[in-house]
Amino acid sequence: MSALAVAPWQAARWERVQGLRSAGRLPHALLISGPGGTGEGLFADALMQALLCTSTSAETPCGTCSACREYTAGTHPDAVRIEPEEAGKAIGVDRIRELTGRLNLTSGGRSKVARIEPAESMTLAAANSLLKTLEEPPGDSVLLLVSERPARLPATVRSRCQRITFGLPDRESALNWLRSQPEMEQPEYWLDRAGGAPLRALEMAAEGFDETPLVSALVQALGEGRIERGAIEAGSAHPLARSVPVLATAVEDMIRLRFASDPPLRMPLERERLGRAASKVDVRALFDYLDELRRSIPGPSSALRADIQWHGLLADAAETGRGRYNR
Ligand SMILES: [Zn+2]
Repeated sequence: MSALAVAPWQAARWERVQGLRSAGRLPHALLISGPGGTGEGLFADALMQALLCTSTSAETPCGTCSACREYTAGTHPDAVRIEPEEAGKAIGVDRIRELTGRLNLTSGGRSKVARIEPAESMTLAAANSLLKTLEEPPGDSVLLLVSERPARLPATVRSRCQRITFGLPDRESALNWLRSQPEMEQPEYWLDRAGGAPLRALEMAAEGFDETPLVSALVQALGEGRIERGAIEAGSAHPLARSVPVLATAVEDMIRLRFASDPPLRMPLERERLGRAASKVDVRALFDYLDELRRSIPGPSSALRADIQWHGLLADAAETGRGRYNR
């Protein structure tokens, strides 16, 4: 009996997909999406391996057959991964032609599995050249498109895929899972910083994400209405998917500090300066800014560069801070 291949909050979805598989009704094109950091890639990985695994009885990959060993080593000839050459870059039409070519090569009747991630980074030409393959994948091949921003995919691509959509897991499942990770200390702390996304929390903990410069930038913009060069640099060092939840956590604490004299905080070490900045800003303006942050949590392939977006968020914080002079 092998262990669950996916995160616990994905188990129901996993069983449904395995049910389709054993009934021979697994769609040939799946679009796996979610807010990022919740294990979308983990699910795609487990499914790829399960499809290639040659142990006939296993619903989860057996982990011991030669196919599983090759998959884990990244050498399985029938596992095709299409990614941008550099993070944040596009997947061009050449890569999709290469993919189609590989899927069309026969490999002794074995089916191939391809994974395109992040799918929304395909150029329009790339997406268009994928349409025919999505409709009729060669042989028994399966295509997995993984995306944190599926709305950015052309409708023609989305409509040809069966959707598997994840949301943020509930806090308790996320915390339980984080507690079971060997390297994880302070799961609550990291889950807050990761905006509730457990796999992102794990990554941030592993790299010792330091929020202090981000909080400094926010406190300065909101409390004093100004932005310094260092504040721009602090944010530009991280993807927005990391920095924005940190700002949101800080603003939530600022709101708590406006409604109680000694509230429990998510960033207790920042109590003093968060309180000082909060006292200078209208509470409604804090709520508005929090809304803006929540709306702006971006994926990796936003049209604007991350440093420009970060600057925009700080500029809005500074404007929110300066608003006090207008009332
Ligand atoms: Zn196997």
